Amino acid sequence: IADLLGRPDLLRGAGYIDGQWIDRDDRFDVTNPADDSVIASVAQLGRAETVRAVDAAERALPAWRALPAKARSVTLRRWHDLILAHGDDLARLLTAEQGKPLAEAKGEIAYAASFVEWFAEEAKRANGDVIPGPTATRRLVVVKQPVGIVGAITPWNFPAAMITRKVAPALAVGCTVVLKPSELTPLTAFALAVLADEAGIPAGVFNIVAGDAPAIGEVLTGDPRVRKFTFTGSTPVGKMLAARCAGTVKRVSLELGGNAPLIIFPDADLDNAIEGAMAAKFRNTGQTCVCANRIYVHRDIYDDVAHALAERVALLRTGAGLGGATDAGPLINRAAIEKVERHVADARAGGGRVLTGGARIGDRGNFYAPTVMTGVSPDALLCREETFGPLAALVRFHSEAQVIDYANSGSAGLAAYFYTRDASRIWRMGEALDYGMLGINTGLISTEVAPFGGMKESGLGREGSHYGTAEFLDIKLLCQEIA
Ligand code: ADP
Repeated sequence: IADLLGRPDLLRGAGYIDGQWIDRDDRFDVTNPADDSVIASVAQLGRAETVRAVDAAERALPAWRALPAKARSVTLRRWHDLILAHGDDLARLLTAEQGKPLAEAKGEIAYAASFVEWFAEEAKRANGDVIPGPTATRRLVVVKQPVGIVGAITPWNFPAAMITRKVAPALAVGCTVVLKPSELTPLTAFALAVLADEAGIPAGVFNIVAGDAPAIGEVLTGDPRVRKFTFTGSTPVGKMLAARCAGTVKRVSLELGGNAPLIIFPDADLDNAIEGAMAAKFRNTGQTCVCANRIYVHRDIYDDVAHALAERVALLRTGAGLGGATDAGPLINRAAIEKVERHVADARAGGGRVLTGGARIGDRGNFYAPTVMTGVSPDALLCREETFGPLAALVRFHSEAQVIDYANSGSAGLAAYFYTRDASRIWRMGEALDYGMLGINTGLISTEVAPFGGMKESGLGREGSHYGTAEFLDIKLLCQEIA
């Protein structure tokens, strides 16, 4: 795989602590989900190295925190420029370990870089407050200070963007970071660290450990020096790690599972709705936490939507992300395929019918055909849990009140989408849906300038936007009595 890179030195197989690459004889393999081939072997780090990484982050903190915001901003801006300059290499690495089509990987690198740019700018705006005092001699000033050392754990579905969305705001405001990327996709993380070093981010400010996830997680959630823990991943793991953080009362941000409803009302622009459903459902082969998981279609337009969607989906080209023009890559692993198979079987048992797809493709790699099902019951398993795969399941509804009930059922509250041209309905739905993000006549909601995050059990806190830095800042009151 190094042969694919203009800069072969971006490929690393070791942890990154205190500006040093930490190798070990004990190793784990990173595979390409398109054909299960081994693309790299990576040093297996654990508890001891994570403690060392926290030591390094602790040593680096005073100087990094003391820099003028503008100096951190300039450094982050350089990191951003380097990420874009090496975008093609990063995208190839990302596709090799994660599977998404190369064009999507390039899109993710641009998206990942956009967080670094945004937070380089926001670094300068950690403004405080001056509050009129309650008496003639009182002066109240609120200052914002970096929380300190940040522990971060990220998933495999966006191996670049989930990292920059956490690391960039943390570094921008003066925190130092110990990151554990997913062991399925650590190579993109290491390459980002190579570029961070080149950008002039000092040793110890940004550290990466990968390997024994539970052991690393124990340090990041248990070490009292880590003051903030930020996690993106599955809901059960997020809950378990957040509970551990209670022991040392860490600040916690969580981006957990979604189970996004996408609702098409009879007054929608149907072409636009189909377009949005394609984007919201099939991006990253259905493996994003904001992917439409259940598509509610009004009975008056149900058959038209089902057929139009099935026609579009049947045209999607499935194949290896590095193998030429493809629209849908493989799923991440065998377990991911099995989950889609379970959801399809369950929907079938409940009366659903497959219009297109409905089966694995080939026996090498992890390909599942993009699928459309109709007649899916509102009680289907996929209405309760995330599929995380290329299954578009259409559930029929007959009234606004009914579909609000359907949509708000369950414990997830990350993203929801609806299509309508009725301005009053937009307000009613906008206020009624219990979700952190609503796509209204659009299937794409993610941008660095807007707050990303969930309600209910989908998470705590927001990433991106000007809200994104608040997660890494403490508020301190200076209450002064003057003579
Ligand atoms: P998914 O793989 O479905 O995205 P996970 O929650 O399993 O969700 O993975 C998200 C991140 O959490 C990954 O970096 C993974 O290694 C990490 N992780 C999983 N289990 C643990 C654990 N027990 N302790 C620490 N990190 C964990």
